[in-house]
Amino acid sequence: MRVDRLWTNGRVASLREGLGVLRRAGAGALAARDGRIAWVGPLAEAPDLDPAETIDLDGRWVTPGLIDCHTHLVYAGDRAGEFEQRLEGASYAEIARAGGGIVSTVRATRAASEDALVAQSRARLDALMAEGVTTVEIKSGYGLDAESEVKMLRAARRLAREARVTVVTSFLGAHALPPEAGDDKEGYIDEVCLSQLPAVHGEGLADAVDGFCETIAFTPGQIRRLFEAARALGLPVKLHAEQLSNQGGAALAAEFGGLSADHLEYLDEAGVAAMAAAGTVAVLLPGAFYFLRDTQVPPIELLRRHGVAMAVATRLQSGLFPAHLVAAGHEHGRDPVPPDAGGSARRGHPQRCPGPRPRRGDRHAGGRQVVRSCHLGHRAAGGTLLPHGL
Ligand SMILES: [Zn+2]
Repeated sequence: MRVDRLWTNGRVASLREGLGVLRRAGAGALAARDGRIAWVGPLAEAPDLDPAETIDLDGRWVTPGLIDCHTHLVYAGDRAGEFEQRLEGASYAEIARAGGGIVSTVRATRAASEDALVAQSRARLDALMAEGVTTVEIKSGYGLDAESEVKMLRAARRLAREARVTVVTSFLGAHALPPEAGDDKEGYIDEVCLSQLPAVHGEGLADAVDGFCETIAFTPGQIRRLFEAARALGLPVKLHAEQLSNQGGAALAAEFGGLSADHLEYLDEAGVAAMAAAGTVAVLLPGAFYFLRDTQVPPIELLRRHGVAMAVATRLQSGLFPAHLVAAGHEHGRDPVPPDAGGSARRGHPQRCPGPRPRRGDRHAGGRQVVRSCHLGHRAAGGTLLPHGL
């Protein structure tokens, strides 16, 4: 078979039934023709291939394009020191009072130009892409006023154009209360619904509307108003729900046909059942769990029993680093997993994820050719990437 390119000597992780992971170095090969995967499998079983070009992968991994379906990738500033402070015993509230936390990111993001936001965020996006991510969801939510939320989402759209990656955006004005709002949550939700959302939607910058339903954020009633505003504009919704307490947020998202409910550490069976009935995906974020040094694990067995599709994402944001996922996977009592929605893909529900639209064909012959390879071993040793859980 005449092919344009043949990669040999690799470790191929495929989702194709019966192929799975070829763990042995040197076993895997992949051939492409006309920009599509023509063949993939153990080299020993390859048909008679006639490649125009052969690339030796030197034992690197080849995986399907990974999907990171929950990130706060666009922001300015740096909160790297906070994790250390937390390990030393400082509470989130203490850090916030000292000028850290989300407010510090909001301040830096508001002050940054769109160009500066793109430049800073591009480095983070490049790091994800180098680890095999081909689709990434990016939220706003560090601007918390119309102008800054628009700026963040414009930056996200520019990243999609400038990097060869699919970006799906979520408007997250209801992320936190900005400092100037005092404690007027109702008034701020008015601003989100009547000013920020129309501004963002008017420029076609939001693919979905997101919120944070929690005692330290917004009530189910306030999120309901947001979701009604989103529905009036024809925008799908998703929600940060049940992260620190059970607010019934997942069921609320399901009521509005939500794409996903994310975090879910305190989700109860009624919420699980509602998600199952609505087809709302459970996005698990072990990195956040680890960063907050939480002890409550999401009800994974309940989600499985009710057949709720699950996805795993990095929740990359200003206070979190992908390396945390290595330990976080263990915190959830299973092998570390890569920053993707592969969990849902393996269960056959990738198309229901909030934004990820993987082409099924990517995963085997006939699929679009998207080949990125990496030395997982090296990266794991350096603490920046995760061993594959496949
Ligand atoms: Zn989030």
